[in-house]
Amino acid sequence: MSPTAKKSLNPLSLKERIKVPRQLMPEQPAEVRAHNFSEVNLGYSPELAQQEAIRCLECAKPTCTVNCPVGVKVKEFVELIVIGDFLGAAAKIREDNVLPAITGRVCPQEDHCEGKCLLSKKVKPLGIGYLERFVADYEKRMGTHIVPSVPPTGKKVAVVGSGPSGLTVAGDLIQRGHKVRVFEALHELGGVLVYGIPEFRLPKQIIREQLDYMREMGVEFETDVVVGRTVTIDELIGEEGYDAVYIGTGAGLPQFMNIPGEHFNGVYSANEFLTRINLMKAYKFPTYDEPMLDLQGRDVAVIGGGNTALDAIRSALRLGARKAYVLYRRSDAEMPARAEEVHHARQEGIDFQMLTAPVEFLSDGKGWLTAARCVRMELGEPDASGRRRPVPIQGSEFNLPLSVAVIAIGTSANPIVQSTTPGLGTNKRGYIQASEETQRTTRKGVFAGGDIVTGSATVILAMGAGRRAAKSIHDYLTTGNWETAQESPAPRA
Ligand SMILES: Cc1cc2nc3c(=O)[nH]c(=O)nc-3n(C[C@H](O)[C@H](O)[C@H](O)COP(=O)(O)OP(=O)(O)OC[C@H]3O[C@@H](n4cnc5c(N)ncnc54)[C@H](O)[C@@H]3O)c2cc1C
Repeated sequence: MSPTAKKSLNPLSLKERIKVPRQLMPEQPAEVRAHNFSEVNLGYSPELAQQEAIRCLECAKPTCTVNCPVGVKVKEFVELIVIGDFLGAAAKIREDNVLPAITGRVCPQEDHCEGKCLLSKKVKPLGIGYLERFVADYEKRMGTHIVPSVPPTGKKVAVVGSGPSGLTVAGDLIQRGHKVRVFEALHELGGVLVYGIPEFRLPKQIIREQLDYMREMGVEFETDVVVGRTVTIDELIGEEGYDAVYIGTGAGLPQFMNIPGEHFNGVYSANEFLTRINLMKAYKFPTYDEPMLDLQGRDVAVIGGGNTALDAIRSALRLGARKAYVLYRRSDAEMPARAEEVHHARQEGIDFQMLTAPVEFLSDGKGWLTAARCVRMELGEPDASGRRRPVPIQGSEFNLPLSVAVIAIGTSANPIVQSTTPGLGTNKRGYIQASEETQRTTRKGVFAGGDIVTGSATVILAMGAGRRAAKSIHDYLTTGNWETAQESPAPRA
């Protein structure tokens, strides 16, 4: 060890750490949670967290941090857990991540930090997501968090959209002294975190607390403002005097399959289905009555294999569905959903019909769905996405009786802001063109990031874009320099 190298505070040798098993996350039993909307995962105790934290190998070049889109200093916060300084650990995470209680719950860690954890070469990776969630929840329980106070710069920034991308920009810019106001089209703040992801994965109270924290920091929020209708980007920059605008409007326009019968009563887009559950509060039945979603004793299928599909079908199960199917046209290996959600859904009794796709919806002759005509698939050559292309098996058609079908095959860009902002470049699929490094668009003073630039992706990628944008907006506001910093917009698919 060099004389300047820091001595490890971990009491175990590297060999001993590898022998410590990954600590399981306590959770509601599957047969119980399949009938309620309370959170599935219950969280680590301080003892479990410390027992997990001591597994960290404290790599000299931590690949976990390199592979985190917001660059959370994993090794450093985990070491603080090892010595029992949980509030210090929370503060360390907050240096890079304004929404730790959220990412600790929904980030696909297997694709980022945990996927690159050195431990996973021999044993299970460090439970980085579980530890992040633990310290964020601990900080909340203690009721102590530091609200940074920064001298004002006199500059003001408008953020359009209150999803994870917009919230990250707002949180980062307020900490740099700029005045920030977030405009949200819906009556609730949080984007997909609140209208899409159900209570049993991400309790709404967690989002409210994160928003309260941001309010304490000075971020202002305005709901029921559809930018492009209520006010335009040009008006924000002109009459309202904003020095910069960040567009984080997401990709909330549902896609459909364009197959016969998709218009029948009982066929929903996942957006509508989940919005009814989350914002119209069907999840609080029987306190709230949402008559369209009385699923008691009915058979429900979701079409798709991502997080949205699993959120919809697991919600249907909790609302009383008799049978709850996932129809996915590829195999397990290609499913884009988080591994933990697939595991939980299987435990809860969701019936996964893999390599299966509907080709038509059938009705009772009065416009109500009665079945999906499905076909079995086999996998052929890889397609443009690199995944093997599903090919229908001749003669494999069958009817699956259903009362409700939910289409969760993806979303696309809502065009309102793009169509009302002259000079704002978009690609051929309608997503906003922005530099991958600086998130600058083709319009001076306008930045964009998250799903509205990349297409539907993940919370942490949207937050990563937000972080880059905040830095870039700060550079622009402090130097006034746009031309020299602007790169050519990144090519998009
Ligand atoms: C059901 C579901 C489950 C998911 N689960 C996961 C998961 O477990 N893990 C994960 O990492 N990712 C998950 N994702 C994906 C993730 O939520 C998104 O990638 C992420 O929310 C994108 O963030 P964003 O800030 O770009 O946009 P969004 O979260 O979509 O937020 C955009 C906001 O902008 C608002 N808006 C739109 N247009 C306007 C306008 N004109 N004026 C004002 N406001 C406007 C919208 O109302 C919305 O609130 C899930 C997505 C869905 C739909």
